[in-house]
Amino acid sequence: MLRREVLKVLAAVPLVAGAAARAGSAEAGGGPLMAGSAARVRRGDTGWPSQARWEALRQQTGGRLIAVRSPLEECYNAPDSAACREVFKELKNPYFIGDQVGLTQTSGWIDAWTFQPSVYAVAAETTADVVAAVNFARENNLRLVIKGGGHSYLGRSNAPDSLLIWTRRMDAVVAHDGFVAQGCAGQAAPQPAVSVGPGAIWGRTYNEVTTRRGRYVQGGGCLTVGVAGLILAGGFGSHSKQFGTAAANLLEAEVVTADGQPRIANACTNPDLYWGLKGGGGGSLGVVTRLTLRTHDLPNSFGGVFATITALSDGAFRRLIRRLIAFYADNLFNPHWGEIVTLRPGNRMDIQMAFQGLDQQQAEAIWRPFFEWVVALMPQDFAYQLAPTIRSIAAQHRWDPAFLKAYVPGALLMDDRPGAPADNVFWAANLAEAGHFIFGYESLWLPTALLQREQQGALADALTKASRLGPVEMHFQKGLAGGSEPARAAARDTAMNPKVLDAFTLAIIGGEGPPAYPGLAGHAPDPTTARKSAAAVGTAMAALKRLAPDGGCYFAESNFSESGWQQAYWGLNYPRLAAVKQKYDPTGLFFVHHGVGSEGWSPDGFTRAAAESR
Ligand SMILES: Cc1cc2nc3c(=O)[nH]c(=O)nc-3n(C[C@H](O)[C@H](O)[C@H](O)COP(=O)(O)OP(=O)(O)OC[C@H]3O[C@@H](n4cnc5c(N)ncnc54)[C@H](O)[C@@H]3O)c2cc1C
Repeated sequence: MLRREVLKVLAAVPLVAGAAARAGSAEAGGGPLMAGSAARVRRGDTGWPSQARWEALRQQTGGRLIAVRSPLEECYNAPDSAACREVFKELKNPYFIGDQVGLTQTSGWIDAWTFQPSVYAVAAETTADVVAAVNFARENNLRLVIKGGGHSYLGRSNAPDSLLIWTRRMDAVVAHDGFVAQGCAGQAAPQPAVSVGPGAIWGRTYNEVTTRRGRYVQGGGCLTVGVAGLILAGGFGSHSKQFGTAAANLLEAEVVTADGQPRIANACTNPDLYWGLKGGGGGSLGVVTRLTLRTHDLPNSFGGVFATITALSDGAFRRLIRRLIAFYADNLFNPHWGEIVTLRPGNRMDIQMAFQGLDQQQAEAIWRPFFEWVVALMPQDFAYQLAPTIRSIAAQHRWDPAFLKAYVPGALLMDDRPGAPADNVFWAANLAEAGHFIFGYESLWLPTALLQREQQGALADALTKASRLGPVEMHFQKGLAGGSEPARAAARDTAMNPKVLDAFTLAIIGGEGPPAYPGLAGHAPDPTTARKSAAAVGTAMAALKRLAPDGGCYFAESNFSESGWQQAYWGLNYPRLAAVKQKYDPTGLFFVHHGVGSEGWSPDGFTRAAAESR
């Protein structure tokens, strides 16, 4: 990749940046930054902090330092016990997983990562708790991990022999009528916004902003994903073509950097850090302790289009895909439309599209020619497994648990633990991912050029070929081509790969199984099945990559073994992002797999990589 460029940038910044960081450290009362030891300490090493030191941290954090216990211990001790069966039942409840310091939403990934709990965690409730944990990790040369919603597919929120900062309890959601970022008075007009704690999940945030206050905030699709993790990754939701990425809606963050200093980052104060936080990837630049997001006027209604069509031959399926591409290019490639079309083995197309800014009649009129074409070729070519359904609802009910439970009960599942809040709901569509074990997973941004009429045949061929091997999901809301101009302009000013602006969709291909943990009797992954699936995912994606060899992919939803990840995630922005990293975290306290600057470390983040191997 741009390795030489990156190294040049890194070489240029450290002295100034290091000095600035040290100055910040002194102000905060934190210890000096370590000069950069060759290796972090592990439990059992002589340098591992004594019990007395851990106890001091516990005191400093008001007793919120906890020795991490994973519910899986029940299973390792007694795999056949009722207690273990109960744990595996609960692993299909994302709220249960989210409430466990010793679990993550993805249980692991074959030949990539295996879930391993931290030794200790600070269950932070305040910024001061986070400061104490950051200083402790730096002063004791520990591997530090940050976990919010715990939904990282790539295992970025767990590591063995580490100290975890767990933000689950920092979940306040506070709306503002007229927010002005610190230091921006006189430069920016007050605007409606919402400040969210890093441990909040999107479901609760939507409930506060949309259900209770009738405003719109751009977040993600899954209700139990963490707010901070999604924004720092970039973040897309059903209506991102209209409202932009979640990151581009960030007005201000409070972030504790490696020197233990809580800093404000916005357009007027630490603007370089602010830019890096917007899509530069979670866990790399500091611990975010508060995020303030722009809110928007709520459209009148939101709607969805649902249908499942089976083609009765391979040729008919290819014609269906070709037709859908042309239909998308002519009718849906605009800010109104987002969400997913999935092409499955067995010649099945699942349509689950979302719209805003249109009423139900308008949506029906738009789709009528497409569905009429399908019906005209029945029964010889196509059959409906789910006949087209087009619905819209008042926008304020879009994420309203009580309304959805009453009127679309099949769409939701509940947190079924005794005493769980009634608002603890999640989309039934996300059930498969609760606790899942990944076999293979890749994503690719597909450029707009592929929508040109003369390219549509080649795209249909590649999609048909890929769908023989596994489900190919096209997430149209995860590319900003065709989006509104404000959404595109705001995304341009983030660290994400600029290719997201030219992409009409993010293609995702994955294979997964139920929760699995290597070495756990009765629940170990089957490596043969997993590797076969992983190989199929790779072959399927290769068919698409031939059309878009440099398409790039999304940091949060990508291949664990992505080659040239710096370029794929951030493209031309990587050198600038690496400079921000070097300025605010010159010794590499913050490490995540394929995060900015991680090329300077061993894959597990414990040992500095030799310069020549970087
Ligand atoms: C079921 C499911 C559905 C998803 N749907 C979408 C979607 O619709 N749109 C989309 O864009 N993405 C989606 N994602 C991807 C998701 O946005 C990312 O995985 C996101 O990073 C998860 O954030 P988290 O806080 O839940 O996870 P975590 O695993 O807790 O954190 C993810 C990363 O962010 C870091 N991090 C967390 N909190 C902080 C903090 N306070 N400060 C600094 N770093 C922090 C962690 O260290 C880790 O590196 C989905 C993922 C899953 C599993």
